[in-house]
Amino acid sequence: MSLTVGVLAIQGDAHENITSTQIALKELGIDGKVIGVKTTEDISKLDGLIIPGGESTTIGQLSLVNSSLKIIKEKIERGMPVLGICAGMILLSKSVNDHVLGKTNQPLLNLLDIKLERNSFGRQKESFEAEISMNSINIPKFNGVFIRAPSVSDVGPDVEILAKFNEKIIAVKKNNIIAVAFHPELIQDVSLHKYFVNLIKKLKTN
Ligand code: GLN
Repeated sequence: MSLTVGVLAIQGDAHENITSTQIALKELGIDGKVIGVKTTEDISKLDGLIIPGGESTTIGQLSLVNSSLKIIKEKIERGMPVLGICAGMILLSKSVNDHVLGKTNQPLLNLLDIKLERNSFGRQKESFEAEISMNSINIPKFNGVFIRAPSVSDVGPDVEILAKFNEKIIAVKKNNIIAVAFHPELIQDVSLHKYFVNLIKKLKTN
């Protein structure tokens, strides 16, 4: 069995996520390839998708225009695993408020029952790194890189909280959907990418 993992490559940190996922597959000894997803045709081939960090309004708007937002949503609803990182976390949410601007009217996938606050930790120059833990998925120590990161102010039923930082929720999971506020592709440690690849393998086998 070979896995095809896609990284949405419209805008943002696609390249770094492709590299981290390739390393994760190699370290796990799982046969698979990683593709940058640019067209709607690419989406049909995928066993799993990473929506990278970047600018959620840009990624959302461009995906809306080329219909990929709708096609991605349908695939995730049918069970395709997705890892949303920072802007990707925002796009997966059902409800988004900006820390400064309030209600945003941006295109969303509307899949994850969470209330999300954009730019929750301040501006670009307030970016920081912090040690976090995701014990429930066996990642007790992880270096979180926060760049204009969102946080989750409320979770709906069955949404599992994976991590908090300074009392704010920064990583969640519901079934095939994982969303994190920090950037795992910017560090050497690929344990979160490995966890995601293993989830894709497990859900493809079932
Ligand atoms: N704050 C950005 C947004 O709203 C996300 C930042 C990031 O992905 N690093 O899209």
